[in-house]
Amino acid sequence: AIEVRNLHKSFGSNEVLKGIDFHVDQGEVVCVIGPSGSGKSTLLRCVNRLEEPTSGTVLVEGVDITHPDTDLDKVRTRIGMVFQQFNLFPHLNVLRNLTLAQRRAKKRDQAEASKVALKNLAKVGLEDRATAFPAQLSGGQQQRVAIARALSMDPDMMLFDEPTSALDPELVGDVLAVMRQLAEEGMTMMVVTHEMGFAREVGDRVVFMDGGVVVEQGRPEDVLGNPQHERTRAFLSKVL
Ligand code: ATP
Ligand code: MG
Repeated sequence: AIEVRNLHKSFGSNEVLKGIDFHVDQGEVVCVIGPSGSGKSTLLRCVNRLEEPTSGTVLVEGVDITHPDTDLDKVRTRIGMVFQQFNLFPHLNVLRNLTLAQRRAKKRDQAEASKVALKNLAKVGLEDRATAFPAQLSGGQQQRVAIARALSMDPDMMLFDEPTSALDPELVGDVLAVMRQLAEEGMTMMVVTHEMGFAREVGDRVVFMDGGVVVEQGRPEDVLGNPQHERTRAFLSKVL
């Protein structure tokens, strides 16, 4: 579970997050939507301290990740991250991409790491591409590899930042299907997305951000179907 309390984040004089309260409960899928520049990625990046919060509290499984005594590496192994850019190592084949971090951070030997990797490749429908190199795969396949790589660390939760935004439209569905399956298996997920269909069908809760604040949140059918705030309505009229 994730709990964010009164989170502020500034870049110089630019206050990007202006007191965010946000949570993702165990097993919950929370979709974060909002206009470009509203702070969605910054919020997500503060959850595993890729960004240093200016003030406020971020608890991950009850551990305060902003506390100086916290073992950040340990916390991060529990959080799977998937970005718009897949960030696979181009010179390593798919299997090696999936075993590298396991060997380093989980101290698994190659045999065990391979076993875990193949299990997760099967999960994303790519068990037959283990020896391919990233450049030989489509964008959608590369993103599914990135998801399998994150899953191979046995995370307690997954953070997605617009995982389908860089994909050709016909490749989006396969990636969303993998995410939907993860959600159905009970994975705790924070998903920054412009895919309103996914938010509506898979999200347990939708959070709408604008200008560094949470403007409104609630059940997808409420936030997307019957928004209470003018800013939410204005945003949805552009994306729906
Ligand atoms: P998008 O939908 O375009 O991805 P977003 O909601 O994810 O937008 P953020 O990336 O969180 O928005 O950016 C919010 C604001 O913070 C923007 O004004 C951006 O320019 C600024 N910002 C983000 N990262 C940095 C950084 N490392 N240094 C300076 N400013 C930054
Ligand atoms: Mg972003």
